[in-house]
Amino acid sequence: MNSGHIGIGMTSQRTRERLIQRLREEGIRDHRVIEAMRNTPRHLFVDEALASRAYEDTALPIGNGQTISQPYIVARMTEALLQQGPLENVLEVGTGSGYQTAVLAPLVRRVYTVERIKALLEQARRRFQALRIRNVITKHTDGTVGLPEYGPFDGIIVTAAPEGIPLALVEQLRTGGCMVLPIGGRDGQALVRVIRTEDGYQHEMLERVSFVPLLGGTC
Ligand code: SAH
Repeated sequence: MNSGHIGIGMTSQRTRERLIQRLREEGIRDHRVIEAMRNTPRHLFVDEALASRAYEDTALPIGNGQTISQPYIVARMTEALLQQGPLENVLEVGTGSGYQTAVLAPLVRRVYTVERIKALLEQARRRFQALRIRNVITKHTDGTVGLPEYGPFDGIIVTAAPEGIPLALVEQLRTGGCMVLPIGGRDGQALVRVIRTEDGYQHEMLERVSFVPLLGGTC
């Protein structure tokens, strides 16, 4: 992958800086998140045909009926996750393009990311390699059951929406650990932050969002 050859306009620092400015205006404050967003080449996470739109603050199709998340939402979820303190190991459910993974990777010690669609995961793996992102472990598996053999996790981020809070995932958080995820169906979803406590969990709503559904099985 050679970002220099994909077109000067969209990879130019000015185009990216405009997105960063917009994220600030939308309320992203954490400078670590702003830096990670600035350093992650989103145009390498979409098809070349869509690369010219990569620094718009919008979700875009990535094939297989899935989407790369809107940059603001990626920043917001990352910020919400980091607010709980330093994170050693994080589980991401829904690798998709790998963009959220790439934003998170420099901010934590290790990311375990799982994806149910093999073709998407393989493409994401190639991107991590090309970008020399080395602290990401990928698995082709159904993330609704989590990744118990690698838990408990300091943080979990889910980038597809279940109807309710998946208890299997809550159970893979360490006490004090935090999960950020969209919840709900077609008639509306909310971004929720869940904190694991000694005897259960607490949760708070962050904002309204729109994600693809969390589905079972693999393909
Ligand atoms: N973080 C991704 C978002 C992709 S959309 C990005 O920035 O590109 C959500 C992804 O979740 C899709 O790729 C979808 O296939 C995946 N997904 C849905 N249900 C899943 C499940 N049960 N386990 C793993 N991945 C799942």
